[in-house]
Amino acid sequence: MAQGKKGQGNGTLLVTTGRKPDWTGHHGTSTVVNPPVWRASTHLYPNCASLKDGTNHNEDGRFFYGRRGAPTQWALSDALTALEPGAAGTVLYPSGVAAIAGALMSVLAPGDVLLVTDNAYEPSRTMGLGILKHFGIETRFFDPLDVASFSQQFCQRTKAVLLESPGSLTMEVQDIPALSAIARAKGAVTLMDNTWATSLGFPPLERGCDISIMALTKHVGGHSDLIMGSASAREPLYRKLRQTAQALGHVVSPDDAALALRGLRTMGIRLDRTSETALKVAHWLSDRPEVAHVLCPMLPGAPGHELWQRDFNGGCGLFSFVLKGRGPAARERFIDALELFGIGYSWGGFESLAIPIDPGRNRSSTTWPPAAWDPADNLGIRLSIGLEDSADLIADLEHGFAVMEQK
Ligand SMILES: *Cc1c(COP(=O)(O)O)cnc(C)c1O
Repeated sequence: MAQGKKGQGNGTLLVTTGRKPDWTGHHGTSTVVNPPVWRASTHLYPNCASLKDGTNHNEDGRFFYGRRGAPTQWALSDALTALEPGAAGTVLYPSGVAAIAGALMSVLAPGDVLLVTDNAYEPSRTMGLGILKHFGIETRFFDPLDVASFSQQFCQRTKAVLLESPGSLTMEVQDIPALSAIARAKGAVTLMDNTWATSLGFPPLERGCDISIMALTKHVGGHSDLIMGSASAREPLYRKLRQTAQALGHVVSPDDAALALRGLRTMGIRLDRTSETALKVAHWLSDRPEVAHVLCPMLPGAPGHELWQRDFNGGCGLFSFVLKGRGPAARERFIDALELFGIGYSWGGFESLAIPIDPGRNRSSTTWPPAAWDPADNLGIRLSIGLEDSADLIADLEHGFAVMEQK
């Protein structure tokens, strides 16, 4: 049901989608630009016959009851579907984690095995080892870069694979077309956490995946003021996602949907700008004596750059780097000295952030730092680059390094 004419560019789509006149409050021939916030639990019917008929229709755009959303949420789903090549529809969830949980619960049953990339977002890992285990689903972790042995990870019971590229914190780029082709041949559903690139930078369904998941909290929201997630798929999986979400009572508030839709309108230019600034900062860091490795897929020569260049249409401001032989106190001095970078979780907002990362705690089929590195180079920092000027961010980092070296 998504709008958007074939062949139009993403910039145009970002502006025009999700603005059906029915949702923007048409009055005569006039409408407003944005769908208003439709606050509703009860939807009213003209008579008992139409109340009864309501149960025969279960799709966005049909009034029924607030748990199935109303025009503000439908407009957001519609826009996300238009931007996701190959998708039949998009389900919204109260957080990115809820989207991952809702999508996994749509495709898994007790006794099944789930394969999860070893560099997955930590709560995805915890979900596998915690609640999914509790419901009789076994989670196994695989090396994100080992395509050659991937097919050996499957058994009769393997029903789904959770991919994420670049992976959380350490930013390994996976060969998604190769991994998803293997999974498909084995009869498993592939889900991809595509929060980093968004559908503008990487179209998972076109690259062989079955379900494309985003934490809208990050780039779509874009202003560090909302939590939301989405999952998009073709039929018949979209139906399954929808049924599961409704069974679990997943719904998002119309206020947050309106904020997400507002964020979406400028997502393209924000991604372009933060990618450009991140690349400048990454280049600068790669020349610093305090830095051992820059883990930024957009940086020529960085790990995963070739795959990123082959498969992605864009990037974003999120990347990590590793200090050269410094200890935890030095890392803390560095981060605490930064003035333009906030210290906090999440990313993809208009403002820059920095956090210390210790990914080794969350690995089971791979090790971090990689064996090929000097083991003294093991303390990471993740940056989320915002919309500030690159020269100011670089000056702030330079000041941080100066404070770091004062013993
Ligand atoms: C933040 C994040 C999520 C979860 O999103 P929330 O809205 O915070 O639940 C999922 N995947 C990745 C890669 C993330 O960075």
